[in-house]
Amino acid sequence: MGKRTPDEHLTKYVIDYYGGLMTRAEWLAYRAFLAEGKIQQGYSPEPLEDLQTNDPDALSLMSAGVDSFRRRVRERILRDHPDKVLLNYCPKCGGLATTPKARQCCWCFHDWHAREGGPRD
Ligand SMILES: [Zn+2]
Repeated sequence: MGKRTPDEHLTKYVIDYYGGLMTRAEWLAYRAFLAEGKIQQGYSPEPLEDLQTNDPDALSLMSAGVDSFRRRVRERILRDHPDKVLLNYCPKCGGLATTPKARQCCWCFHDWHAREGGPRD
């Protein structure tokens, strides 16, 4: 798997760390895409049946494909919950860190641990 673009990274970050802010239909669609991905990897579909959905709202969210779905969920979460989502940007290059609590940049490798607890720089 190649390195993600900053845009793909933002999508993964929001969905991985703030997926709890998904709506019910988004969550159903998300689970159904997970099941679909596993089936494509060769998993048997039967145990994954309860991840799949007939919910019309979820199906309509799924109609444009997984990448478009993930980007839409990201945009909606960022729009509806600006107070809950911490976008942890690197103080040096402005890239988004790997996790909300990371103290090291995954783009330029700048490390800002030393800033905690004092004005040292
Ligand atoms: Zn950086």
